[in-house]
Amino acid sequence: MSNSLITDSRIEEEVRKTLAATLRVEADEIDLNASIVKALGATSIDFLDANFRLEATFGIQLATQLLLDHVEEELGEGTAIDEDDKITEAAAALLRSYLGDIPKLVAGLDAHKVPTLVTPMVLVRSVRAITDELPAECTHCSASDWKTSDGAQVACGACGKPAEYPDGDTLTQRWIQEFEREHHLFAGA
Ligand SMILES: [Zn+2]
Repeated sequence: MSNSLITDSRIEEEVRKTLAATLRVEADEIDLNASIVKALGATSIDFLDANFRLEATFGIQLATQLLLDHVEEELGEGTAIDEDDKITEAAAALLRSYLGDIPKLVAGLDAHKVPTLVTPMVLVRSVRAITDELPAECTHCSASDWKTSDGAQVACGACGKPAEYPDGDTLTQRWIQEFEREHHLFAGA
């Protein structure tokens, strides 16, 4: 189901605030569609820090594993990254679906360059995908009475416990399986 307690604009605002705090830039200078690495100079430590802050704000767990590593685990070794560490045709199509239609995203791109293509909007969509998995009922007391006081943390109106969402890695695995069922790009590749 979707989660109407948390608005898209709230998630965008938190991603801006988080990146601004992590990277020491002004929140309104952040272009949601520009590379976090190239435009904002983020390092992998900054990514971890930003993820940690977003997780605390929304009460979620973002994916810890890289998307292409997930693909290899779900669909087989060598399906996403070839022996020269370049992404395959199927992986490029999957990444375009996930990251947006970026011209550089074609087969043969160095796999280690993929994280440099992540934009703030990708973070927004990741938070959205998890929070949209709000269960119909509280897993503790079965009440259907979700509440939020800050537009980010959702808790049960009956027992007060925080909402339990599936984690980002689980959702990513599910999404990869759905993508492959729909497009059949990896099978036999
Ligand atoms: Zn409850």
